[in-house]
Amino acid sequence: MTNTNQAWFDRAQRVIPGGVDSPVRSFRSVGGTPYTVVRGQGAYVEDVEGKRYLDFVQSYGASLLGHAHPEVVAVLREAVTRGTTFGAPTPGEVLLGEAMTSRVAGLEQVRLVSSGTEAVMSAVRLARGATGRDKIVKFDGCYHGHSDALLVAGGSGVAQMGLPGSAGVTAGAVGDTIVAPYNEVPTLDESIAAVLVEPVAANMNLVAPTPGFLAGLRAECDRVGALLIFDEVITGFRLAYAGAEQYFGVTPDLWCFGKVIGGGLPVGAFGGSRRILSSLAPLGPVYQAGTLSGNPLATAAGTKVLELVSPSDLDELSARVARFAEQLGDAVASSGLYAATPVQGPLMGLYLAREPVVAPANFDEAKVLCDNGLYRSFFHAMLERGVALAPGAYEILFVSLAHSERDLTRAVEAAAQAARVAASS
Ligand SMILES: *Cc1c(COP(=O)(O)O)cnc(C)c1O
Repeated sequence: MTNTNQAWFDRAQRVIPGGVDSPVRSFRSVGGTPYTVVRGQGAYVEDVEGKRYLDFVQSYGASLLGHAHPEVVAVLREAVTRGTTFGAPTPGEVLLGEAMTSRVAGLEQVRLVSSGTEAVMSAVRLARGATGRDKIVKFDGCYHGHSDALLVAGGSGVAQMGLPGSAGVTAGAVGDTIVAPYNEVPTLDESIAAVLVEPVAANMNLVAPTPGFLAGLRAECDRVGALLIFDEVITGFRLAYAGAEQYFGVTPDLWCFGKVIGGGLPVGAFGGSRRILSSLAPLGPVYQAGTLSGNPLATAAGTKVLELVSPSDLDELSARVARFAEQLGDAVASSGLYAATPVQGPLMGLYLAREPVVAPANFDEAKVLCDNGLYRSFFHAMLERGVALAPGAYEILFVSLAHSERDLTRAVEAAAQAARVAASS
């Protein structure tokens, strides 16, 4: 048999380090062989062996409508015939920029890039260039992509591997990065260019901001003239129609986007007021560039997604996820384990424990729950029942608009059984 997950993974490991192009896809922390996906449709993916999984990975949040939405596929088909990249301005960049800025109050301009990593890296450079200051503050357990200055105390795959940061990142590169605990407003001074935060921390599983945290950051930044940067690569256009600003009523100076706004293609964006963005080349001294930035396929898909998703879609999704979280928590509890299933809008976390548990408020609390070993057997028991979660305890569940009530009920039933398996592991 050559068309098996094992055969593909063996081949992958020969030509790709660890067999994966992003470490979060690896099964190292849960054990076993990754399934190799050949297609996705709505809430489901199918592997090379023809097995179907109800998919809560959804490309780590890049896919809000579910996989291969027919209208997104249609605009891509149409766009691809007109050529895929030109090195000249295209209407698609304007349309995506208009769609974003028209939704988010205070977001006057955006610059498109090709990933969330690039978006945050560029926003930090812009903040430093615009303020003439060097230092930035980030929070323990937040993930902001893999640029050098931000690969310290990161969540997601970095946390999963138990790393404080990354080899190959020099002390100099992180020397101006200050790490603070999430949900505590740090006291700043006038050396700080920017405070960078995930408005909902969604890379240490899910840690919600406590009331007043984001507003406190806003006030403290204002006091010392630092810029507040929201990393909305996950929350943007998902948490609410206009993202975290709308959901929490706090306005940052700079926004970073990715995932949802590419409709499944590689895109990122950063933006803010016209005044701050005018520091960017070619208008100003902060250099930033990209051959494939604003790629016509990516902007076509992203614009279509934003057009298709209405505020009421997100309200309904949030309500569905709230019920799902409660039912999942009950199902796990009925089976001998306990679960905390914190919810923010349509974002949902899952922490498993052997004792009654409350949702964590920071990375230290999240780590205790993510590292307790229960996730491993739960994950595999779910996968055997045709439900795909991310292969790491630090990731959240992504419920797409394609997940039906029936799908979620199936997942709850599987979770009740999987929790029993994990409890006896
Ligand atoms: C995924 C993610 C990034 C990085 O985006 P990539 O497209 O993977 O480079 C940055 N910030 C947050 C909050 C993310 O979740």
